[in-house]
Amino acid sequence: MANKTRIRYLPGEAAAFSPEDALPDRSAIEWTDATWNPTTGCTRVSAGCDRCYAATLAGRLLKATYRSRLPVVNTPTNRRDPFALRIWPERLRVPGSWRKPRRVFVNSMSDLFHREVPEDFARQCFRAMLEVDRHVYQVLTKRPARAAKFVARHRGLFPEGLPAHIWIGTSVEDQSVDYRIRHLLAVPAAVRFLSCEPLIGPLDLGAFMNDGAGCDGLHWVIVGGESGIGARPMQAEWARKLRDQCRGAEVPFFFKQWGGRTPKAGGRALDGVMWDEYPGVGETN
Ligand code: SF4
Repeated sequence: MANKTRIRYLPGEAAAFSPEDALPDRSAIEWTDATWNPTTGCTRVSAGCDRCYAATLAGRLLKATYRSRLPVVNTPTNRRDPFALRIWPERLRVPGSWRKPRRVFVNSMSDLFHREVPEDFARQCFRAMLEVDRHVYQVLTKRPARAAKFVARHRGLFPEGLPAHIWIGTSVEDQSVDYRIRHLLAVPAAVRFLSCEPLIGPLDLGAFMNDGAGCDGLHWVIVGGESGIGARPMQAEWARKLRDQCRGAEVPFFFKQWGGRTPKAGGRALDGVMWDEYPGVGETN
């Protein structure tokens, strides 16, 4: 994990931040530049969560930091649980402290649309993104139905949908959860993306992309295999199918990693090619 930070803390803030989840100026995640975690903690929703790296980090490196704050649902069990949902209002100022435009992965350690995130706090997070519009925010959720409802309820904030610098994505680990794509498509946004990581089974996007006829609903697809002890291997044909469907529909394709014992174990090349494509919308430079 990237620990090097150039960020200056406001007085009294440093103790609330840890090197990994608070202000890493550079993220180790290939498709982003930095992570921003105004909330931390989450609960499992599907098989893609089985080896959640955020839960692992929360239980080890970040345990003391997270347990120093009261959880949103303040029960004895949650106070002991470093991965219970917590909010960090002081972090709302973080994007404004980054002068250089960057891609920002919002809530790498949580899910902004978890049911325990107070509605008003989620709204404040989006206000921060709207105000500091020099960055591109990559909001990734496994709860896109809640995201669609949130954006509909707060039309005043987003009169024309999510603007080009706020991207919204959902994780799809195999075909069994492709219903998330339909929910994602209900979010009015300039950029909607899929994170197919960890890809643990076959996934056919044919219902959402028209070969040769483009795709006006999805704007970016990330694919990656699982890593860590006991990682579930990604079959090459699963990755190739997604690459070919993206190529056919002219959707940018990003191949993050094969996975394996470590994230870098299998490298990043798919059939000898590094696929590092991004949507050409709202980009930083
Ligand atoms: S939704 Fe994401 S952060 Fe939450 S448990 Fe699943 S993998 Fe972890």
